[in-house]
Amino acid sequence: MKWKSHVSIARAISAEMCLPEELERGLCNGSVEPDRRPDLAYRENGRRLRIVRAPHHNPPTGTIMAYLWRARRAYLIGNDYWAMKNLGRALHYIQDKSVSPGRRFRRHDAREEYVADLTPPWEAVVEGIEIAECSPRFVRECIRKVRPLRRPEEIMYQATLFSSAIAASVLGPPDADIDLMERYRKAVRAHRLRPALGGAAAAISLTAVYAGTHPAVAVAGMAVAAMIILDPAYRRICTEAEWFGLDDHKL
Ligand SMILES: [Zn+2]
Repeated sequence: MKWKSHVSIARAISAEMCLPEELERGLCNGSVEPDRRPDLAYRENGRRLRIVRAPHHNPPTGTIMAYLWRARRAYLIGNDYWAMKNLGRALHYIQDKSVSPGRRFRRHDAREEYVADLTPPWEAVVEGIEIAECSPRFVRECIRKVRPLRRPEEIMYQATLFSSAIAASVLGPPDADIDLMERYRKAVRAHRLRPALGGAAAAISLTAVYAGTHPAVAVAGMAVAAMIILDPAYRRICTEAEWFGLDDHKL
């Protein structure tokens, strides 16, 4: 996408969210920064690993999420300008991801020229802000939903919609609601018992080996022990809580 498009989406979001001028500048600057100072990525070339410019039309979700986490953490500690810069960088990738690179690059360039003549639709900004949930799960889901499109109006609508939704999620309420706090406290309490339970499951499966039970039983027991200790449901709620700056050492 052209810089003009990145900047006009940033301005449309800023206007709807009533951001002060200084923060709007941060969001605009961040939105064009990946073209000025590219992120790097590894690419395999035969047997060698090469460092290349990270792709913009098919960016890794991890790269975008890393910027959004930085933005959210900065926002929580009141470093709003830094939050906007990182948010802008992430939105740049969301916007580029909306443009189909096509088979011929010339056609892609023409498509970006058409998009540059369009104004971000106000309805897309409003809809994005309305559907936003203040959660890293929601943000990740938005990134996944961004599709490479061909029609300029659809490109602009999608890029604006998801950029606004993600911005509203990152700049959402700084404090977790009571429901999340309660679920998080319960999960932390239950998780503290996990090492003992996991250890017990591991011990039972080892005893099964010595007792001459079929090895498959022992392997299944070890898998259960690993699941108990890793506790994916707990990890998920920790990630949600971290979006609000909570960590289990402070409980
Ligand atoms: Zn780009």
